[in-house]
Amino acid sequence: MLICSSLDEMKRREAAFRFIATVMNQEGRSSLYDLSGLAGGFPVKKSDLNLLETYSGPAIFSSNLQKVGTRHLGGDKVAAFNRTSAAILATILALVKPGEEVIHYLPELPSHPSIPRSAKLQGASYREFDNLQDFQLAEKTSLVVITGSTMDHQVLSLNDFQSIIQISQENQVPVMVDDASGARIRTVIYNQPRAMDMGADLVVTSTDKLMDGPRAGLMAGKSSLIDRIQDKAHQFGLEAQPPIVAGIVRALENFKPQRILDSLERRDKLHKKVGNVLEGVEKTPTGFMITAANLEKEINPDGNENLTKRELATLMAMVLLKEYHLVTIPAVGMPGVSDTIRLDLSSNDAERVDDTQIIQAMKESLELVRELIPDEEASLSVLYE
Ligand SMILES: *Cc1c(COP(=O)(O)O)cnc(C)c1O
Repeated sequence: MLICSSLDEMKRREAAFRFIATVMNQEGRSSLYDLSGLAGGFPVKKSDLNLLETYSGPAIFSSNLQKVGTRHLGGDKVAAFNRTSAAILATILALVKPGEEVIHYLPELPSHPSIPRSAKLQGASYREFDNLQDFQLAEKTSLVVITGSTMDHQVLSLNDFQSIIQISQENQVPVMVDDASGARIRTVIYNQPRAMDMGADLVVTSTDKLMDGPRAGLMAGKSSLIDRIQDKAHQFGLEAQPPIVAGIVRALENFKPQRILDSLERRDKLHKKVGNVLEGVEKTPTGFMITAANLEKEINPDGNENLTKRELATLMAMVLLKEYHLVTIPAVGMPGVSDTIRLDLSSNDAERVDDTQIIQAMKESLELVRELIPDEEASLSVLYE
């Protein structure tokens, strides 16, 4: 066993950060290619920095946030949170009582852990569904959550989306849409309407997903609900602080849907070429990915290796980082993060790396992982040193 616990995953993340820091100090930021699609950004202007020191600044950022936030998400009012997970927690604390129920509909399991965890913390029961036939509200259901686009960028069909909203409205249960990446993937790539325009009561998005903002959660909805949720957030310190709000405002101002659209043609070509060196590569809305299960099939078709698929995917991600300076989520993510290796071509850094480099990195990393597998000591050093 190479990875035994979430503590090990913490150590892997620290090793990845140590490596990134060393590379950046020696060769500068341009030697690193962050294709995680989560690079984030903090595009504040110099003039914003002075305002951070006064009370007037936050006042200005907050009112600008209302303007650009509702333009992006719709709804009457927005609120900013430390993370999307924090917005979800605040919503469940505000709208669901202990003993009541949260139900969650998503295009494909698994769901983001923040939803079941928040329900559990509040003493509410939780059920999740990824097919319409099984979806049914109960007497005690007080919140319906819809995930518009999953962590692996599986997108909910418009038909399912509308059905869930309709069922919830008939039962007068509020709907919160977790559109962390969906607020852009669904609307820009799939031409779906914004969640608020489809009748959701609340929607939350991550301002670092497919846009260059800080990692934070932006929620929009009906004013009365937003007020109650924001009140809860303040009680538990879940709200975004003024500097983050400034970053969100500037990122929303800068957001260009065209950059996402421009990446699609490249994605189609690259997906084909990478498919020649790595079977089981799948297209995503903005790039391509290989799930841990497909990677395992590729490396080890007979399934008799003693490494788990998660260990294989993590090894591969760490090799991509250390040998090719490609940053992907399984290398730098928190414990329990998705073990899908996803390369996002709408990332800022994607412009600086060409297709041949990417294909070569995938091909050679796969070979390196095959060589590493029998050598436990070498594998441990790739993961943790
Ligand atoms: C990323 C994501 C979240 C959580 O975002 P954090 O910034 O990690 O809190 C929640 N739900 C979905 C579907 C996501 O993709």
